[in-house]
Amino acid sequence: MLPTSKYPSRRQFLKGASLAGAATALTACSSLAKPNVTPATPANPKKAKNLIFLVVDGMCLGTLGLAHHWSLRNRKQPLNWMQLYGRDGLTRVMQDTASASSPVTDSAAAASAWGCGERVNNGSVNYSTAGQARTPLLSYAKAAGKATGLVTTCTVTHATPAGFSANVTSRGMEKEIAQQYLSREIDVILGGGLSKFNYKASIVDGVAQPAVDLRPAFAAKGYQVVNDRKSLAAAKGHSKLLGLFSGGHVPYAIDRGSDPKLKKVPSLPEMFQAALESLSAAQDGFALQVEGGRVDHAGHANDAAAILHEQLEFDDCIPIALDFMNANPDTLLIITTDHGTGGCQLNGKGAAYVESGPALDSINTFTNSFEWLQNRFKKTGQYSSEDFQAAMGFVPTDAQAAQIQKAIDEKVKYLSSFMTGLVEDQLWDRTAVGWTSTNHTSECVELFAFGPGASEIPSFIENYQLFGHMTRALGLKTES
Ligand SMILES: [Zn+2]
Repeated sequence: MLPTSKYPSRRQFLKGASLAGAATALTACSSLAKPNVTPATPANPKKAKNLIFLVVDGMCLGTLGLAHHWSLRNRKQPLNWMQLYGRDGLTRVMQDTASASSPVTDSAAAASAWGCGERVNNGSVNYSTAGQARTPLLSYAKAAGKATGLVTTCTVTHATPAGFSANVTSRGMEKEIAQQYLSREIDVILGGGLSKFNYKASIVDGVAQPAVDLRPAFAAKGYQVVNDRKSLAAAKGHSKLLGLFSGGHVPYAIDRGSDPKLKKVPSLPEMFQAALESLSAAQDGFALQVEGGRVDHAGHANDAAAILHEQLEFDDCIPIALDFMNANPDTLLIITTDHGTGGCQLNGKGAAYVESGPALDSINTFTNSFEWLQNRFKKTGQYSSEDFQAAMGFVPTDAQAAQIQKAIDEKVKYLSSFMTGLVEDQLWDRTAVGWTSTNHTSECVELFAFGPGASEIPSFIENYQLFGHMTRALGLKTES
């Protein structure tokens, strides 16, 4: 366990100071104050009114370790995640992540396991292995009068948010998932994925499909529809929100930080905060899933700089959740990941491994993700060594450059993964970050729970067992 008192985060330190200040002020004037007629929330409520489910998609323990050491070296303080280990009321759980069809789950099956309490086959969303639709968690919450919310850096119709709220036989049916969000009235929907709500007419299997724009239908149901950081701020506190900030996934945090054109896209913590402001007014509470969705994507692409920045951004959501819990102890907070991706690890490098630390610090010289570079090359159809060097700080060999140009010409789908694979020796030499594959991994993962019902969760669970713990804590009536 970390001696947290030795490394308080500045934010937590300030928060503690302001809380202590507020407590003193309350005590000082309590004899003059009128009696408070609103019953206070009990300090240890038995039932959860709210659920906040924070999921970082595809986080290997090695990814967490890499970010942890980067934070210690570059910020002189541990991650918020690491500070949770010293926190009162923590239930710490090891979670087996398999699906019905494989020891290695995908995000659809993993989120469905949490979302409906059953292991399903990889690729399906809340459909049993026998092909039956299962009611997802957010539908139960809605039936109990709770508000519901989905926040993610992926398309909002992606596998993980869908696993809490939708039913489709194949995770690729994102346009159907968008329709279900409309008919099921998920109250707050924030993330990427405009292209799943608004698209041109097309011909599918020889059948003409009409153009669709679901946004007016959402607006007609009372939703405030927003598309950038500014309009999100202007809609503050609105009880129904649809925010689609990108056609596809929300751009990586590293690219939002360096590309001025992407500054208008809100960060995950900003979206989370906005969701809380909207949902917390709901009288009977809420169920909210917040996903740092692109640690997974950076893992698939074996992109060390992108994965570090995604992990750090997810970590910034933790104090927001803890602040909310301090004010609202009748909240069950879950923090976990659905599986590992890529087998990311910072490795020993050099004699006695003395080069590992500087190698980790060298990630600071990367200014963009390989995805950003991929988008640039695909747009122009041209490889550019200047762009490559500006983003990554080194230039591929002439032979590698020719291979990248060939991949651009051949329209290789995952050009970012192709490039990281091609220059993996140079990347290894600079960062000491290694990968086991570009796929998911079967590792068991950490799960934290705080609040009502948390202490009922045993120290080892299979992912599908969490559904029962959450629904019991929230007092939701389920079919099973
Ligand atoms: Zn994945």
